Amino acid sequence: MGAELWEQSYESPHLPGNRLQPVMGAELNLDMYVEDIIDHENGIWNLTPIRHLISAEEENAILNTPFGSKEASDRLIWPNEKNGRYSVRSGYHWLQSRISRPNPYSPSTSSMAPPKLWKLLWKIQAPPKIQNFMWRALRNCLATSENLFKRKIGRSPLCQICSTHPESIEHILLLCPWVQGVWFGGNLNYRINHLEITSLWHWLHDILLSYSNRIVDQNWLATQIVFTCWNIWKSRCKAIFEHKTPSPHSTITATRVGINNFMEAVKLSRSPHNTANERTSTSPICWNPPNVGIIKVNVDASWNHNNCRAGIGVILRDSCCNFIAAKAIPSTASSALEAEAQAVLHGCELAHALACTSVIIESDSRGIIQCLNGDIARGAWAIYPIMNLIREQQTLFHSCRWSWISRVANEAADLVASLAMARMSNEVWVHRPLSSLTHVLNKDGLPCPPHV
Ligand SMILES: [Zn+2]
Repeated sequence: MGAELWEQSYESPHLPGNRLQPVMGAELNLDMYVEDIIDHENGIWNLTPIRHLISAEEENAILNTPFGSKEASDRLIWPNEKNGRYSVRSGYHWLQSRISRPNPYSPSTSSMAPPKLWKLLWKIQAPPKIQNFMWRALRNCLATSENLFKRKIGRSPLCQICSTHPESIEHILLLCPWVQGVWFGGNLNYRINHLEITSLWHWLHDILLSYSNRIVDQNWLATQIVFTCWNIWKSRCKAIFEHKTPSPHSTITATRVGINNFMEAVKLSRSPHNTANERTSTSPICWNPPNVGIIKVNVDASWNHNNCRAGIGVILRDSCCNFIAAKAIPSTASSALEAEAQAVLHGCELAHALACTSVIIESDSRGIIQCLNGDIARGAWAIYPIMNLIREQQTLFHSCRWSWISRVANEAADLVASLAMARMSNEVWVHRPLSSLTHVLNKDGLPCPPHV
C-alpha cells in the first residue's frame, strides 16, 4: 500500500481521486484524502490518522516522500523514469520486471553482451586490470564456484560466503547478502533489487545506458561501478583464500581510495606542469574568481543515507577572491540529489538576502547544473518542486548563471557543508570567515591579510 499511496499522492494530494485505499480488515475513514495526512502549515506529513494501518516500512517510505508546493501546478509523473515522463523503454522494463523472470537468486550469465556495451567498457575510466576483470566477469570467465562445479573441478556450486545460493558472478558481485551494504553504503547509494537482476551484462547495460540519464555523469557512474565490482571481487577472494570475513566498510573504503588515487593519477598525467600552487583559468581543479561586478556563490551538500540528514554549505566571494559570507544549514533530504538541489536554493536565497544582483551559482552536482541549464521539467521528477523554487529565485537577480565545478575545487563549500552536518541550527558568517575555512580560502586566492 505504501508504494501506491506514495505514487498517488506525490504532487497531487488535492485531486479528489486520491482517496486513501482501505486495508483489508482495518477501519479507515473512507472520506479521507491524501491531503488529510499532510500538515501544510509545517510542511510535513501527519500520519497519526493512518499510523495503525501501515507498517513501519510504509511509514518510512511516506515520510521520505517530498510533496510539491501548493503554488506549483500538479502534474502526472511516471516514477520509473527520472524525469517523470513515460517512455516506451521504461514501460517495457517495468512490464518485464513484473512478468515471469528466471530465478533471480541463480541468474545465468550470458556472454551475449551487445557490442555497444563492450565499446563502453573499454572507454570506462579505470586501470586496464579492472577493465580486464570486468570483461572476464561479463564473459563469465571467472573461477566462480558455479563455473568450477560445472567443469567438475569444484565440490559444490554454492557460494562459499553465504552458502545459500549458487555462486554465479551475479551472486558474487550483486546478490550475496554482504555486498548489499557495499552498494548502498558506497558513493552510489544504490539499493540492489534482486528482481531486476537476470545477468550481469543486462544489469550493467540497464544502469549505464538507461538509468544514468541526465542524473549523474555516465563516466563517473561507470567508474564507480567497475571499481566497486573489482573491490567486491578482491574481498570475496580474500574471504575464500585468506579466511578474512568480508567487510562492506573496508570494501567501500578501498573503492573510494582506489578511485581517488586513480583520478589523481589521471589528472597529473593530463597536466604534468600543473602544480598545486599554480592557478590557471582553464584548470578544472582550481576555484576561479568571477568577473568584476559578479558574485560567485559556491554551494555543496553532504548527505547521510542512514538518517537522511543533510548539511548544506554556501559561500559567497567576489572577483578579488574576497570572502563575503558563508552559511551552514543543517537539513534533511531523501537523496543526495535532493540535498544538492537544496544547496542551490539556499545559495540563491543567501545571495538575494545580501542584495547581490549578478551571481554565478556554482555546484559540483553535474545533474543539478545540467538540469538548471536546460528544462527542469525534463530533470529528475523527485526534485522538481525544489527546482521550481530555484527558477523563481533566479528571476530575482539581474543576472544569474549556473556553473559546474569539480568536487576538488569546491572545497570551501564542501567544508561549510560538513560543518552544517554537525550543527543543530543555521549559522551565518559575514565579512570574516570562520578560522577553519581560512586555509581553503587562501588556497583559492584570498588576499592576505583577509579582507575585512
Ligand atoms: Zn553468497
